[in-house]
Amino acid sequence: MRANIVFLGTGGDAHVVGQQLRSCGGLLITSGDTQIHVDPGPGSLIMAKACNQNLRLNTGILVTHNHLKHCNDVNQVIEAMTHAGLDKNGVLISNKTLVEGTEDLAPYLTDFHRSCLERSIILEPSRKAGINEIDIQAIAARHSDPNALSYKLIAPNFSVCITGDTGLDEDLARFYNADVLILNVQHPGENHHDGHLCTEEAAQIVKAAKPKLAIITHFGTKMLNTDPGFEAKVIQQRSRIKTIAAADGLMVNPISFSTGKPII
Ligand SMILES: [Zn+2]
Repeated sequence: MRANIVFLGTGGDAHVVGQQLRSCGGLLITSGDTQIHVDPGPGSLIMAKACNQNLRLNTGILVTHNHLKHCNDVNQVIEAMTHAGLDKNGVLISNKTLVEGTEDLAPYLTDFHRSCLERSIILEPSRKAGINEIDIQAIAARHSDPNALSYKLIAPNFSVCITGDTGLDEDLARFYNADVLILNVQHPGENHHDGHLCTEEAAQIVKAAKPKLAIITHFGTKMLNTDPGFEAKVIQQRSRIKTIAAADGLMVNPISFSTGKPII
């Protein structure tokens, strides 16, 4: 069965993305015929083409929260997936803010693009939904979008957890158990309590969650200067779990790291 994770970007702050030191198009997760685009930020389309991926084949889109680096291209990706609504299809799973906004944040999803979809589902923490054979579980995240989510995807042959943007919450780490854990680690070092993870906090999470493989992504300026590969090694040493730094265009076969057992 086809299984793949493709990183369409690994940038995580305004400088890195603004200067295009790294792109910010999210990632594609494929299981069989199901292709899910997670956090389609700026650069989704051009990176999909560069990585030889076809967004028309998306079956679903998953958005962790309503910040531009995570959903800037959501409307355009829906157009690519649905031929601008001529072929009404696909499922969007998102947090509440992307669709309804908050007092401080206007929603980035347009009503027209929502109408192009077969379904749009708003998840709250601990709630589940499905896209074909993939079960998707929402986990609370600690971020400046108050409704931000992390997600766990359980496919027939592998599971992947995506933290999205979140600060450390030790109570939540137990929900991150999956074959592959993808963490947004914006900062190197320690002591960044700003709704993003740093290396030290990521190491604590990886040690507690015990995935088969941890992948760090969403890098800020200091992280790029320090070298994400070095920070991944620090996490690996602290957690004793294989940890790598994502690069734009990185492809990983998640089945290689699967236990073969469904994780509930
Ligand atoms: Zn954010």
